[in-house]
Amino acid sequence: MTRTSLTQLEARDGFIPRHIGPSASEEAAMLSVLGYASRAALIDAVVPANIRRKDKLDLGQFFEPLPEQAALAKLKGIAGRNKVMKSLIGQGYYGTHTPPVILRNIFENPAWYTAYTPYQPEISQGRLEAILNFQQVITDLTGMGIANASMLDEGTAAAEAMTLIQRVGKSQSKVFYVADDVLPQTLEVVQTRALPIGVEVRTIAASDIDNLTESCFGVLLQYPGVNGDVRDYRAACEKLHAGGSMVVVAADLLSLTVLTPPGEWGADVVVGNSQRFGVPLGFGGPHAGYLATRDEYKRSMAGRLAGVTIDAQGNPAYRLALQTREQHIRREKATSNICTAQVLLAVMASMYAVYHGPQGLAGIARRVHRYTGILATALKSLGFQLANDTYFDTLTVIVDNADEIHRVANDNGVNLRRIDARHVGISLDETITRDDIALLVKIFGGADVDVDTLDKDATDAYPAALARTSAYLTHPTFNRYHAEHEMLRYLRALADKDLALDRTMIPLGSCTMKLNATSEMIPVTWPEFSNIHPFAPEDQTVGYREMIGQLEAMLCAVTGYAGVSLQPNAGSQGEYAGLLIIKKYHESRGEGHRNICLIPSSAHGTNPASANMVGMKVVVTACDANGNVDLADLKKKAEEHSANLACVMVTYPSTHGVFEEGIKELCEIVHAHGGQVYVDGANMNALVGVAGPGLFGGDVSHLNLHKTFCIPHGGGGPGVGPVAVAEHLVPFLPNQASTGYQRDEQGIGAVSSAPYGSASILPISWMYIAMMGAEGLTAATEVAILNANYIARRLAPHYPVLYTGHDGLVAHECIIDLRPLQDATGISNEDVAKRLMDFGFHAPTMSFPVPGTLMIEPTESEAKAELDRFIEAMICIHAEIVKVERGEYDRMDNPLKGAPHTAEVVTADDWQHTYSREVAAFPVPSLRKKKYWPPVGRADNAYGDRNLFCGCAPIEDYE
Ligand SMILES: *Cc1c(COP(=O)(O)O)cnc(C)c1O
Repeated sequence: MTRTSLTQLEARDGFIPRHIGPSASEEAAMLSVLGYASRAALIDAVVPANIRRKDKLDLGQFFEPLPEQAALAKLKGIAGRNKVMKSLIGQGYYGTHTPPVILRNIFENPAWYTAYTPYQPEISQGRLEAILNFQQVITDLTGMGIANASMLDEGTAAAEAMTLIQRVGKSQSKVFYVADDVLPQTLEVVQTRALPIGVEVRTIAASDIDNLTESCFGVLLQYPGVNGDVRDYRAACEKLHAGGSMVVVAADLLSLTVLTPPGEWGADVVVGNSQRFGVPLGFGGPHAGYLATRDEYKRSMAGRLAGVTIDAQGNPAYRLALQTREQHIRREKATSNICTAQVLLAVMASMYAVYHGPQGLAGIARRVHRYTGILATALKSLGFQLANDTYFDTLTVIVDNADEIHRVANDNGVNLRRIDARHVGISLDETITRDDIALLVKIFGGADVDVDTLDKDATDAYPAALARTSAYLTHPTFNRYHAEHEMLRYLRALADKDLALDRTMIPLGSCTMKLNATSEMIPVTWPEFSNIHPFAPEDQTVGYREMIGQLEAMLCAVTGYAGVSLQPNAGSQGEYAGLLIIKKYHESRGEGHRNICLIPSSAHGTNPASANMVGMKVVVTACDANGNVDLADLKKKAEEHSANLACVMVTYPSTHGVFEEGIKELCEIVHAHGGQVYVDGANMNALVGVAGPGLFGGDVSHLNLHKTFCIPHGGGGPGVGPVAVAEHLVPFLPNQASTGYQRDEQGIGAVSSAPYGSASILPISWMYIAMMGAEGLTAATEVAILNANYIARRLAPHYPVLYTGHDGLVAHECIIDLRPLQDATGISNEDVAKRLMDFGFHAPTMSFPVPGTLMIEPTESEAKAELDRFIEAMICIHAEIVKVERGEYDRMDNPLKGAPHTAEVVTADDWQHTYSREVAAFPVPSLRKKKYWPPVGRADNAYGDRNLFCGCAPIEDYE
């Protein structure tokens, strides 16, 4: 018997086989179905030789994959170089207590964090209800008519609000005023956004808004201001409206529980951040931004909106309303390019409001305000003056030597806001205790304080006219789950309604729903990562920046680019940043006139929407019958627009699921005409370790860390969309000058509110790469391609695969064409998608990039057993369609048109269908052991859009 070596025994701890689903024998079985002797042979046949990496992927120190425990230990060491302090910096970010019931049962619960965006409403009722709760929290607290289901952060929400009022307003002016007490990072994001669309941003003293007479299409106010002031803008709003301008207000949610909401004093749009509702600081994100507006502008609003409709049985059901996939439908005319948002964080913030309820929230707000008043009194008694006489939670203290105060504060574990040599900012939050107040007084040179004595004289320190009188969160949802058992069961009941990766594969093409390993998730909630303020001094964020530097280097190695910025907090934002970089590059060479962006018709809708955001003109190029970019047409258009060609945006491998042989030639054509090549990197899962966009001709790409690099989708966000660039574009990567983050002075302005975007989820991708190593990453790509080809081959006899490349092979996803079956039977791709729910599956991507099709992407993380379960379901569904074709099932009354079938429908005494209950509920025997019951029947989208309702269900429904 051969003895196992120690090295072999040690290798058993490896992560690679945990991440990659198929075992060696399963792999062999799939390869034999495809007729290839090895994985290498398959990859040689799939990936064009001219784009293959010449050398093996080299990740430097991460070449050797680390076992899970070793990777955690290594990252813990890095995290330990961060210093966790009490950050009272404010400026939009506050300490908060994440209620443990929410921490464990949402933030750390795969039922919530591994879900996809709720485009398939019937299997998403739980998260749709949570999102609707979020919308209700925002509309109630802001006093507005309607709110969407989260923005990427406060800065981008303000930028979207600016473009919203420009679209709906009557003013012809190009001027947008921003009050000088708006958060500096918000101003910077707004400026970045304004520049390419010709909007002129001017700042104005907040105290001077009343006297603003110059014409403008809108103003942006902060409530309360960054220095703490709570100003009454009622009269100013009236004047502005009379002059034809509109008003955007960036408001702090907690303060709105005690202050008159902007909706009651004239705001047209209210934006902000919900971070302090239980979402950790995380060095800047992810957090859910919000945007609320008047009801009349609902059709012009950016982002997503959840709403109420009815299902096929007439019961209430939730679903995404109106512009659900507007980028795909309206493309460059879309109201924004937002695709991935911040759903998981919106869910957390909404549940914070559910758990505390209106009294609880107001109690927190009053406590924070009282502590602030006590601190103000104590500081004044020490002889300090305050720069603001009104405040909610923030004081700006006038001092002789700010540096000295900051030094003492830091020595005592406290961060205060650095304003200038004579002013120090202090923002209190719900984590503040009496001891903290005593410590702060000490930092300012005082002795012991008696908090109770000071409390006796404390009065509200905002204008009496701004005390909130209107009720909010009166809805039962916010008043019945305050006991932990009730809350726990509410969260569980919602999660149970949904299908996420913890129950089934989610074969969504282009979305890469791969494993989000627990080891990858664990570091996210370490205090060393979660309790760091984005503007904390650099000596406290050494660990973060080390981890980020390593991740940037890994992503450069993987893509073949020279520089990466992790600032964009979604793929769409990476596109926007990348196009701004291209623009700036052309300008730097005196070619600022270049503004044509070529985009193949198969592109993801965010591409044209992003091009539009940066003021480029989209020219669509054709695809040929094989789904490839039509190079002749591209060449013709590049020639035609040669003088003004800015770039091409092309996805690789294409959204048609094939490795196009002509990609190098495409890059050469565009370069020859002075254009840059933007390679949309959403499909990197087919490239890592095998080819790199920076190596085959790309100049810029965004990656989706929430696709290829294992950040979970969170039900529609968070995400990270790093922008990666070739050497000549490195100087143009984004900065954040307002907070001192500058890579190169030529860089574009900030595209997010925080310098590193959603920093606290970057450890997920770091862990993934460290545990996989170069060898594991390459294997993952290869198995992703193998799994997709296995599915395509097994389904081909039943459903035609629309596009294939060399040898009839696909890349990491495949499109199956339902249109011939639909023509013959009336059964659509949507019917198949809904029927899959009866089998316990989430549908593949529907009608993108080709209407009437389904796009299947299994990823490398699915074992053969799960692929076979899916294939069995699809074959069974095909047999049902054949029965319709043969007339054995009625064209309208059949298991497909009736899908999904709820338990209520199947068990009803009244059953009037031509197929049996058994066929409805248990079409394959394995379902008897493991059955998911869709909670609602098919949602009626048209009804919901006609009767738009986007808040919690009316109170009567609860009786
Ligand atoms: C997902 C995707 C995007 C958009 O990325 P988000 O992170 O959702 O903003 C862009 N292009 C393609 C091809 C995609 O699949």
